[in-house]
Amino acid sequence: MNRPDPIRPNPDAEDALFEKRTQVHPQRIDGNFRRLKWAVMIVTLAIYYITPWLRWDRGPYAPDQAVLVDLANRRFYMFGIEIWPHEFYFVAGLLIMAGIGLFLVTSAVGRAWCGYACPQTVWTDLFQHVDRFVDGDRNARMRLDRAPWGAGKIARRGSKWMIYLVISFWTGGAWIMYFADAPTLTVDFWSGTAAPVAYITVAILTLTTFVLGGFLREQVCIYMCPWPRIQSAMLDEKSLLVTYKDWRGEKRGSLKKAAKAPEEFGDCIDCNQCVAVCPTGIDIREGPQIGCITCALCIDACNRVMDEVGRPRGLIDYATLEDCEREAAGAAPKPVWKTLLRPRTLVYTGIWSAIGLAMLFALGTRTHTDLSVAADRNPPFMLMSDGSVRNAFTLKIRNMESRPRDFTLALDGLDDALMWTGTVPRDQAARSLTVSVDADQTRAIRAYVAAAPGTPAQGFAFLITSQGEQAETDRSDARFVTPEEAAQ
Ligand code: SF4
Ligand code: SF4
Repeated sequence: MNRPDPIRPNPDAEDALFEKRTQVHPQRIDGNFRRLKWAVMIVTLAIYYITPWLRWDRGPYAPDQAVLVDLANRRFYMFGIEIWPHEFYFVAGLLIMAGIGLFLVTSAVGRAWCGYACPQTVWTDLFQHVDRFVDGDRNARMRLDRAPWGAGKIARRGSKWMIYLVISFWTGGAWIMYFADAPTLTVDFWSGTAAPVAYITVAILTLTTFVLGGFLREQVCIYMCPWPRIQSAMLDEKSLLVTYKDWRGEKRGSLKKAAKAPEEFGDCIDCNQCVAVCPTGIDIREGPQIGCITCALCIDACNRVMDEVGRPRGLIDYATLEDCEREAAGAAPKPVWKTLLRPRTLVYTGIWSAIGLAMLFALGTRTHTDLSVAADRNPPFMLMSDGSVRNAFTLKIRNMESRPRDFTLALDGLDDALMWTGTVPRDQAARSLTVSVDADQTRAIRAYVAAAPGTPAQGFAFLITSQGEQAETDRSDARFVTPEEAAQ
C-alpha cells in the first residue's frame, strides 16, 4: 500500500504553507477507549479546578492551602512538602521526571500523552462535547455549518460561544488560584481589589483557552506544537501505535461489492466511521501521520463496525511495526507485555525510578535548619584595643519549620575565641549563644569572633543546633584571618 509521508501527509500541498482547513466534526462514539478518555478528562479537569481549594493545616504561621506557589515569600507548598528557593533542585528533578516519563510513554504507546492527557486535547474534547450538546451530533453540526446565517443559527452560535467563554474564564480563574489563597483571592477578584496581574492573567488565559480549544483545536496539534516532530525520534519499530492493518482490510469495498466478489475484498467495508469519529479529522487508513494523536477512538469505531458485520475486531488496533510485518506474513503478534517490557522502556523506567527514589530520599532526610556564612572581606580583620584580633561574619540562619524556634549558635574549633553579635554585646561574648528565628523565616545576623593576640590563622566552623528534642544541626566552615596571614 502506498503510505504517505508522515511529516507532509499531503504531497499535493507542496507549494502551500498550510493545507486548507476542513472543519472537523467528530461523531459521538462509545467504546473502551472513549470511556478511558472520559475518565482521564474528568480526573485531569477535577485535579486542575479543585486542587487550589484543598486545605492543609500547617499551623498558624504558614498558609493552609494544600498546593500553593507563594511568589511573594518565594515558597512552593505541596501538601506536607514545602520547597524553599535554595531547594529548587526538587522542582528541577520533578521536571526531569516529567520529561523522562513522557519519553517512556511515547516509546511504549506512542502519543498517548497527546491523545489523553495534554491540556490542548482535554479542553478540545470538552469543547467538542459542548458542540454536541448545543448543535447535535456530526451530521447536525455539518448541516448547521452549511446553513445560512439566520436567527436560529445566531442563537445557537451565541449560546455555544457563551459556554466556551464561561469554561475559558473558569480555566483562567482557576490558574491564578494556585498563586494566592483561593478563597481570599476570589473575594478580592470579584470586589475589584485583586492585583492587576490577576486580572491580566485571567484575561490572557481566558482568551487563549477560548481560541485554542474552541476554534484552533487540531490545528494546534498539527501545526503549532513541536511535540509531534520530537516524538518521531522516540518511536521505533517496537512502539505501539494505532494502526490500520491494511493487509487485512484491503482491498476495501462496501458490503454489497464484497458480497459479489468476496475473494477480491478485505475486511474494510469503507464505511468511513473511523474518519468520522477522529478528533483531528484524519484517515488512519492512509498510514501513520503527524495528525494522529493516538486517541484510539477509531479503534472503538471500527470494532463496533466489525461487530455489526460479524468480522473479527482489531482491523484498526494498537500494533508495532514489527508485529504488522509478522501478522502480514501470517505469524502471531508478540504478547503486549513483551512489547512494553523491552530494554528501551526498562532503561527509561530505571532512570525515572532512580531520580524519583533519590528525590524521596533527599526529601525524607533533609533537615529544616540551614546555616550559611559569609566573611567580611574588607577589612578581613580588626585589631582591637586590647590587642586581640576580630573577624566579622554575616550569618544566615534558616528556620524551615512553620513555628518559631530557638537555636544554639556555637563555635567549633578556634579554641580560645569568643563570639558576640549585633544584639549580644561584647561583654556577654561566649562560645555559644542563643538565636531565635521566626517561623518559616531566614534571619541574618552579624557575628563577631575575637581571639587572643598571637592566635594563628586557622579554619573553624559555626555550628547551629535547634533547641529541644529535635536537635537538628547544620555547620558552615569559615576561616579566622590574622594580620600575619593578610600581609602575605
Ligand atoms: S486516527 Fe484514530 S487514533 Fe489517530 S487521532 Fe484519529 S481517531 Fe485518534
Ligand atoms: S471503520 Fe473500519 S471498516 Fe469502516 S472504514 Fe474504517 S477501517 Fe474500514
